[in-house]
Amino acid sequence: MNNYDVIVIGAGPAGYVAAIRCAQLGMKVACVDEWLDRDGQPVLGGTCLNAGCIPSKALLESSALYQQLQQDMNGHGISVTGVALDVAAMINSKERVVHDLTRGIAGLFGANGIEWLPGRGQLLPDREVRVTAHDGSRQTIAATHVILAPGSMPVQLAVAPLHNDVVVDSTGALNWIEVPQRLGIIGAGVIGLELGSVWRRLGAEVTLLEAQDEFLAMADRQITQSALRLFQKQGLDIQLGACVKSTRVEADGVHVDYENSGAGQSLIVDRLIVAVGRRPCTDGLAAAETELLLDEQGFIHVDEECCTSTPGVYAIGDVVRGPMLAHKGSEEGVAVAERIAGQLSEVNYEAIASVVYTQPEIAWVGRTEEALKQAGVDYRTGVFPFAASGRARAMQATAGMVKVLSDAVTDRVLGVHILGAHASELIGQAVMALEFDASSEDIARTVFTHPTLSEALHEAALAVDNRAIHVAHSRRR
Ligand code: FAD
Ligand code: NAD
Repeated sequence: MNNYDVIVIGAGPAGYVAAIRCAQLGMKVACVDEWLDRDGQPVLGGTCLNAGCIPSKALLESSALYQQLQQDMNGHGISVTGVALDVAAMINSKERVVHDLTRGIAGLFGANGIEWLPGRGQLLPDREVRVTAHDGSRQTIAATHVILAPGSMPVQLAVAPLHNDVVVDSTGALNWIEVPQRLGIIGAGVIGLELGSVWRRLGAEVTLLEAQDEFLAMADRQITQSALRLFQKQGLDIQLGACVKSTRVEADGVHVDYENSGAGQSLIVDRLIVAVGRRPCTDGLAAAETELLLDEQGFIHVDEECCTSTPGVYAIGDVVRGPMLAHKGSEEGVAVAERIAGQLSEVNYEAIASVVYTQPEIAWVGRTEEALKQAGVDYRTGVFPFAASGRARAMQATAGMVKVLSDAVTDRVLGVHILGAHASELIGQAVMALEFDASSEDIARTVFTHPTLSEALHEAALAVDNRAIHVAHSRRR
């Protein structure tokens, strides 16, 4: 039997990063992963690289450029004619990005001496792992430590079963080679909004049916209310409180029956995306004798340090509690590798940012105003609109704002919420502020470059103390 210091099951951003960090620390590492690309070839990178973060962002970039060329140039004195869309070429370009990045991970595995074992892994007792290769052959390997990083998969809805490329999950919606005229999406969460934006920009009429009455309930309400208005102006028909009762595929399209405010409604669309969340991939992951404890939703139970109920076995990424985000999984991978090597390492779960890559983008870190109110925390607020930012005006990207929340007593920054162009990049500064326990005064006293969008964060921090410079009524609360 082959013996390793560490076996990692899953090569998504949690697993492959854990494997690389373990190898950097001198361990003998094997990584088992079952993902096959569209040509049936084993490929590393998991959901993130193959069917998640990267392909969706590639299509968001391409579709934004198309829309900009079509609609947004006149304000800059540029007139563009003859813009044509080749969706198949756009999909190919996305595939090239994915291909290059996944091959890059394979290169990193080679350079770090990590053994890549394509196939399905199952945890057995005593930290043994059974690997079933894609040709059905089996081998059992063993290690001192096992890291489980099998990720997640889309939740399916009994009322909307997937049907060829007509009723699809997020993976299917990344591969259409023509624009559906009428697109329905069940779920106005992160995936619904991002993929809805892609296909809206390319010309589809998009209707999102969201079960909850509140839009993006996990984000700050002041931000989401503004975002909802902007998205609706873009032509995303977002219906809240919509409960889908049935769907059926007919010759004229997909018929969706739903209820809204107690009234029966129906909709016919050419394509339907089901985007109602993801669930952990734990079916058959561990043999019963391993006594690996799962919670009632199938997530692997772990402590603060990602230790499972089985000694020597860790779990990281989407398969454990916390946000289903690539950067969260990767940091857990690094921390577990370093703990195995005897180092002190931890993940600051309070400073993990979330982003919705719409236009404008929504990004936040820390607590929302609603959460602070609910917890009875005394806080101060500073808001600065991008309409008052010189750079945003030059970019003609004036929608949105930066909002800073700080503790009323200590002034420690408790949350930063951004709606605006490049919010995904700007939020990094706020993450560092939280990571370093900064006060709003620390940000206010920092010299920011002019003219930049980052100045809006500076001004929002100044606004916490009623001293923002570039707003007319800065002394009003
Ligand atoms: P995964 O990436 O799911 O990887 C798990 C791997 O394990 C897979 O390769 C799987 O095949 C393999 N596996 C599972 N079980 C076994 C087994 N028994 N044996 C062998 N291999 C196994 N997150 C962000 O942070 N930013 C984004 O912009 C973003 N965009 C997204 C867009 C979409 C459309 C989707 C679907 C997700 C997006 N996410 C985003 C979420 C992100 O993709 C996940 O949080 C991240 O991939 C989780 O990483 P992971 O390593 O835990 O699991
Ligand atoms: P989500 O939890 O963000 O949104 C799902 C939405 O579907 C929710 O608003 C929910 O209320 C709604 N919903 C649930 N059941 C429904 C039903 N029967 N009818 C109508 N609506 C229903 O989940 P998602 O959009 O599927 O994304 C899955 C995960 O992937 C997320 O947790 C997210 O963290 C991750 N992700 C992240 C990014 C990013 O970081 N930019 C992008 C995409 C996905």
